[in-house]
Amino acid sequence: MVKAVSRKITSLINEVIDADVLVVGGGLAGCMAAIKAKDQGVKVVLVDKGYISRSGQSPFAAGSINIFTPEDDLSLWLREIVERGEYLNDQEWVKLQLENIYSLTTELDAWGKEYGLTVLERDEKGSLLRRKARGNINTLTSVINALPMMDTLRRRLVKLEVPLYERIMVTDLLTEDGRVVGALGLNYRDGKLYLFRAKATILAAAGCGFKSFFIGHRNLTGEGQVMAYQLGAALRNLDQAMSNTTAREVDIHGLSFMVGFGGRFLNGRGEEFMWRYDPEVGNRARLTRLTVAMAREVAEGRGPIYMDLTQVPTHDQTLLKQIVPEGFRSLESVGLKPFREKIEWMPAFEGTLAHGGGVHIDLGCATGVPGLFAAGDNTCTPEHGTWSITGLNLSFCIVSGKVAADSAVPEASRASLSALGNLDVAPLVDALLAPLDREGGSNPEEVIARIQQTIIPYPVAYLRREETLQNALARIQNTRQWEIPRLRARNLRELVKAREVRNMALIAEAIVQSALYRQESRGFHYREDYPLTDNDQWLKWIMVKEERGEMKVRGEVFPTPYIQPPTGKYPPR
Ligand SMILES: Cc1cc2nc3c(=O)[nH]c(=O)nc-3n(C[C@H](O)[C@H](O)[C@H](O)COP(=O)(O)OP(=O)(O)OC[C@H]3O[C@@H](n4cnc5c(N)ncnc54)[C@H](O)[C@@H]3O)c2cc1C
Repeated sequence: MVKAVSRKITSLINEVIDADVLVVGGGLAGCMAAIKAKDQGVKVVLVDKGYISRSGQSPFAAGSINIFTPEDDLSLWLREIVERGEYLNDQEWVKLQLENIYSLTTELDAWGKEYGLTVLERDEKGSLLRRKARGNINTLTSVINALPMMDTLRRRLVKLEVPLYERIMVTDLLTEDGRVVGALGLNYRDGKLYLFRAKATILAAAGCGFKSFFIGHRNLTGEGQVMAYQLGAALRNLDQAMSNTTAREVDIHGLSFMVGFGGRFLNGRGEEFMWRYDPEVGNRARLTRLTVAMAREVAEGRGPIYMDLTQVPTHDQTLLKQIVPEGFRSLESVGLKPFREKIEWMPAFEGTLAHGGGVHIDLGCATGVPGLFAAGDNTCTPEHGTWSITGLNLSFCIVSGKVAADSAVPEASRASLSALGNLDVAPLVDALLAPLDREGGSNPEEVIARIQQTIIPYPVAYLRREETLQNALARIQNTRQWEIPRLRARNLRELVKAREVRNMALIAEAIVQSALYRQESRGFHYREDYPLTDNDQWLKWIMVKEERGEMKVRGEVFPTPYIQPPTGKYPPR
């Protein structure tokens, strides 16, 4: 059986697809990148591990989007985003994003109208519907409907005749003389192997969510980040590996507007505890503050934690159900009545998704590897810093998709299509298929569980210490050294899992190494042994790079052109 699958794949290896610009990953960022590249008249190919418009996180997004309009005050918004991002933001990226998001979302909304879809919610006067949601003080959050947004993008791609290659997992990037010239992909339904040849490649395959308990990311296991890292790109800010929060009974989303519309967090004693941790916004605290606070309440014996929506006004209940219908359906499907009873709540680890760090990029989405660009969650999400305010991710995906396209198109026009004549892909294919040929070895599912058990527990994910992090590092290195090379697969499904778990293990080590390196507390990174934010020592981006086969970590001082951080040490803000 094992050999039969292996032979079938090998005989189908040579399907070759050519593109000027190859986009890997068709979430919001990848779709925008493909559309904006195609608009410039080049041949674009979009490849995705799932079904474009229903895969990845974008279709699950809970509707918060940060749209800076021409009427808003740029310096006020920039300051708020940087201050709430605890100064780790790339300030030039924040400015670029604010300056471009209004026109791009207006365009996206207009595409939706062509198909009769409502992308942006508007009030009765036709203005953007805007609220104060999680983290907002002076800034405002607009409402975007995720499914119509993704349906619009898919229909636009089809209209522009961008070829969509779906249910293909890109496993490796191909290089010639150090330059990326395409990618190798496996269709996990029929076992076909694809070679994509490209003059420029944009990675938009998001980050690694470790298949944890949160909706919308179980197929996101870090391929895009690992592939870039293996070619010498730096991974940045993985110390900020992030978490959302969700109901314990069923994984749902929609937190931003739940607390924006009056939802409250209660501890086991019925106290509205978030005001102790964030006197300014209380229940609307940023995720960084919220997840650490929840972990501390439980660790100090005041658990469990609840979400209380019983005080949300009736008209906002209706709007909430409209923005995140599947979340409320899920709660009801397990017999919970969210507007009549409090719901048990918990942190939900999401690793390097959203603002949890990723591939370091410059202002043009270049990764530093010739021919390779990155957009969306595949990157370090430079606008966020730690976790700034809600809705920045979706805006970043839109803007970075456009920026990556604007960089990749001229790059493609300078390059020629690689003949791939001298390229020996056999070692890559052999390595990919090797688990199929192993009779014994580790079961990918069991290794995934071990990785989760190593990095998701509170003392590693939320209330970190040198000792707990060192223990986690030893375990993860052990997994990488002994279990990953022995992974076995009995079918295509397990073969995909084997590659996924290999990538998850690498990202897990990079997270733990980054967390060990940063000896202070900031954002998602709370160190019980270094509880203060230290702007004198740690206004640095933590960079992880492969050097001569080893994972190296360093801190990089970065420019702060517009907002000057305060000096000294203080409790995390
Ligand atoms: C439940 C939920 C709610 C959220 N709500 C909000 C919100 O309200 N506001 C906000 O700003 N942000 C929100 N976020 C975050 C936001 O949704 C993401 O930051 C954003 O959607 C990321 O878009 P992306 O295009 O970078 O990646 P994704 O949308 O995750 O798309 C990545 C794509 O890459 C594909 N892919 C992955 N690996 C491979 C591979 N090896 N080969 C080929 N393709 C691959 C996947 O199939 C997927 O289609 C939310 C996230 C979740 C999970």
